[in-house]
Amino acid sequence: MEFYKVGLVPGPVSVPEDVRKAWDFDFASSDLEDEFFNLYHENQILIQKILHTNNDITITSGEAMSILWASLKCTLKGGEKILAVSSGLFGEGFADMAKTFGAEAEVCAFDYDSVPEPEKIYEHAKKFSPKVITAVHCETPSGTLTPCLKEIGKIAHEVGALFVVDFVASAGGEALDVDEAEIDIGLWGSQKVLSLTPSLSIATISKRAWDVIESVNYSGYEAFKDWRDVENKKFMPYTHDWHAMKALNISLLKIMNEGLENAIERHERAARLCRELGREIGLKLFPRDEKFSSPTVTAFYVPEKFLWPEFDSKLREQGLAVGGNYGKLAGKVFRIGHMGSQADDELVRKGMNIIKKTVKS
Ligand SMILES: *Cc1c(COP(=O)(O)O)cnc(C)c1O
Repeated sequence: MEFYKVGLVPGPVSVPEDVRKAWDFDFASSDLEDEFFNLYHENQILIQKILHTNNDITITSGEAMSILWASLKCTLKGGEKILAVSSGLFGEGFADMAKTFGAEAEVCAFDYDSVPEPEKIYEHAKKFSPKVITAVHCETPSGTLTPCLKEIGKIAHEVGALFVVDFVASAGGEALDVDEAEIDIGLWGSQKVLSLTPSLSIATISKRAWDVIESVNYSGYEAFKDWRDVENKKFMPYTHDWHAMKALNISLLKIMNEGLENAIERHERAARLCRELGREIGLKLFPRDEKFSSPTVTAFYVPEKFLWPEFDSKLREQGLAVGGNYGKLAGKVFRIGHMGSQADDELVRKGMNIIKKTVKS
């Protein structure tokens, strides 16, 4: 399939036509023109509004994995400690990534079908004294949303750690207050709620985080340090993607025009509808409690009468694409992505109808 008739994959999501218009223009060199830096700066301000933060914003090339790596490499040296709060694959992933360059990583683990709890994190952080604590807002593979970012932020700062949060698959579709949650480095991607191509990564960086970044002084393609203040210096570590920057602007303005509250409400509505229709069909929700479910993605167990590859190909025959899974959830849990352009009642209804027909046949 080159494109999906009914696309409900939890990222990359469908790129709307008005956003695709950004590529229908022969942009000049991003290195040379003030207009590019003005656009970059306008996007920074829109992002600060959407994420409720006064922290600095960097917008870099490469999809979100590039800044997940950057958030670790720029804040940790070999032998330094990181505590990865995890209720899923992305949570654990932080520990695995940090180990590759010699950091000492521990995982504060919670079941994949549940969400992290502050008490256990507090105990672990007190004992381990990490330099960095990471958490994931929406664990996309599990279809869950971590509700206690504020509490984890407090814990991080009580033990003197930086607080790094992956909100790649939630921000813009769920209320998020970066400053209230005391997030030092926040990580956002372009191909989820923002409904762009997987081209850009967005990070929020606090003063406290900049101090650590300057002292670690990591340089590499994904390093944050040279992105500090580029909008004023007008000098970047590499040539930026003006088309993607323009597409980001269109997408951010769409959220502002819709109203952030309304966008969040649209996600909640699509998620509720998805769970409701799933229940009617007899699908079993993966999160052990419905209240752990994310508004951007819903995870169900693969119906018992099918093996995943068979179920997937039957849905695909009818034009529907959903997400499978990875690691220990592979083959057992599938996911419906209703984020960004796909947080749409009609689309969810269409997809769930195809699932219903398939399950009942
Ligand atoms: C999508 C996603 C990322 C980025 O990873 P991909 O390579 O785009 O899959 C990072 N974190 C989370 C929670 C995500 O959902």
